Amino acid sequence: MFNLVLFGPPGSGKGTQSINITQSYGLQHISTGDLLRSEVSGQTPLGIEAKKYMDQGLLVPDEVVIGMISSLIDQHPDARGFNFDGFPRTRAQAEALDALLQFKQTQIHLVLSLEVPQEELTRRMLGRAATSGRSDDNAEVIARRIVEYKEKTFPVAQYYDEQGKLAVIKGDLSIDDTFHALSKEIDRHLLPVS
Ligand code: AMP
Repeated sequence: MFNLVLFGPPGSGKGTQSINITQSYGLQHISTGDLLRSEVSGQTPLGIEAKKYMDQGLLVPDEVVIGMISSLIDQHPDARGFNFDGFPRTRAQAEALDALLQFKQTQIHLVLSLEVPQEELTRRMLGRAATSGRSDDNAEVIARRIVEYKEKTFPVAQYYDEQGKLAVIKGDLSIDDTFHALSKEIDRHLLPVS
């Protein structure tokens, strides 16, 4: 198995690049943002609860997200590996993910962190808000999401860096050039474990 985390601030291109990676490497894509949005549109009890946080630019509570991931991993017993997108976003989530994977006798092999300058992130998110109709991308909510990222999510990079698993990739190139840089790093790690 090869398990990858695509890490980065909101607007860094994780979603777009995860789709490319998933298609090229045959991994199972798990995006907690997409999963939560589908719960919201289905008006499930989980979705109704999660929406309160998402609309404000706040992180959904750890136990909700960890429960969702746990059942998703169980639904894909034959996956070649997972590409986690937008998860883990807190240290508690990272520790829970390690425990879940350890139970399956596997681990996170690589964490790719997309680095994009702040002005470019805001510009991209405002552009996305204009076209996608996402409820969480107006200027006030974007500002809150950035604070949540800095306070709660950024420390996750350090957690993986301490384990020697973090690689930082410039995410403000074109989509193709960024994908090329991500692929180079994945290939370097994939060969020894496949
Ligand atoms: P995303 O599409 O990944 O940017 O996520 C959109 C929103 O969903 C975030 O602003 C959070 O409110 C929520 N969310 C997504 N993933 C997580 C997570 N791993 N932990 C907590 N909240 C999350």
